Amino acid sequence: MSKHSPHKGRILIGDDQPDLALFMARTLVEVGYEVETAADGEECLRKARATVPDLLMLDIMMPKIHGFEVLRALRADPRTCNIGVIICSGKDFKTERDESGQLGVLDFLTKPIPPLLLVERVASFFGQRDSLTMPMVPVVRLASAEIYRRQLDVRRPHFYLWGTRGSTPIFGGRFQRYGGNTSCMAVTVGDEIFIFDAGSGIRDLGLVLAAAPARTVHLFITHHHWDHIQGFPFFAPAYIPGFDITVYGAKGFGKDLESIFRGQLDRDYFPAQLEDMKSNLHFRHLADGALEIGAARITWEFAQHPGATVAYKIEVGRRKIAWVPDNEFLQGYVGPPTLAREHPLALTYQRMISFLSDVDLLIHEAQYMPEEYGTKIGWGHSSVSNACLLMKLAGVRRWIITHHDPMHDDAFLEMKLNLTRQILEEIGHPMLVSHGYDGMTEFV
Ligand SMILES: [Zn+2]
Ligand SMILES: [Zn+2]
Repeated sequence: MSKHSPHKGRILIGDDQPDLALFMARTLVEVGYEVETAADGEECLRKARATVPDLLMLDIMMPKIHGFEVLRALRADPRTCNIGVIICSGKDFKTERDESGQLGVLDFLTKPIPPLLLVERVASFFGQRDSLTMPMVPVVRLASAEIYRRQLDVRRPHFYLWGTRGSTPIFGGRFQRYGGNTSCMAVTVGDEIFIFDAGSGIRDLGLVLAAAPARTVHLFITHHHWDHIQGFPFFAPAYIPGFDITVYGAKGFGKDLESIFRGQLDRDYFPAQLEDMKSNLHFRHLADGALEIGAARITWEFAQHPGATVAYKIEVGRRKIAWVPDNEFLQGYVGPPTLAREHPLALTYQRMISFLSDVDLLIHEAQYMPEEYGTKIGWGHSSVSNACLLMKLAGVRRWIITHHDPMHDDAFLEMKLNLTRQILEEIGHPMLVSHGYDGMTEFV
């Protein structure tokens, strides 16, 4: 190979890092180019004007005169406007690439530049010198096979909160963060879906299910106050043949579960009746003992709330998650949350405390501020302070608060969450606690 052959082309390297410039120069000289270097923008411009090289390998960030300014000056001069330019830079941003494109740069190499790539790109430039209108080809740093990708494993057990509001649905700018749909949660375990409560949130869930092939659905109702069943008439899968839907719930006082839903769909209240629901619909009263469905085990316990209201616990492997949206713990107690487990008032709640004592994640209400609770005793909901005490007495590790009061907007709920954390610290039970929101989803 003839070194320093003038026939292979003349190159000027403008780079302020001497080691790098020298390395590039050696590499190119080795394969037959005539190479000169310049250590700053000023020198680069001077040498380019003096020698008019075939190709300028230009760094962007150079002392004295910025690389783009060098380029602009060369493009403005008829003697130097046709010099081919390849940018060699550690800065690889859209802004730099766009600017380079506008200044007629032919190629953009990102440092560090492997010698083989350098030789290949320079050869490619000289090979295509006669058709200099070629568009700039972006350099891909990695082959696509090397880019790290990971798909979410949707078959892993997870919950999804479709409605986290209590009492009544609500809408408006002040409620955007936490949402306004009433109670509904879905837990997916393998091929099975378990839905807890049919508040207005179940409507959106139903639309998702209805868009997929018909399947088996298990719907567990804590109780049949409006905010836990009002979405049922709008649950699309119920109307679709092929869906197999079992509704589970406690037997009410006098009325059975099916009568409750039949009554909700009475023609005085709604245009469609239970008979119009063409899915395979069953109603099952909760019995003693656990329900085993697929890989899940479901148990229940009565909660402190008007009527026959229950709390649910779902076990998947060793993980346990409980859904208790309505529970007035320590009904009537407005004192500080310092009662011991043996206190006569707390003893009344031993069954619930035991039921919750081994859960990994508890989704439980704390609807009222301590000072609000005084006027809401017997409404079926806990004060923040009493709910905090329940967490301590049951030794719960993680708490997601749901059933937000429709009077509490986003800003208020943020403040209320901080107060909850403060109380938990003050009673010696700091724990992971967050507010549930419509759309919240996590692995179980
Ligand atoms: Zn409720
Ligand atoms: Zn209720």
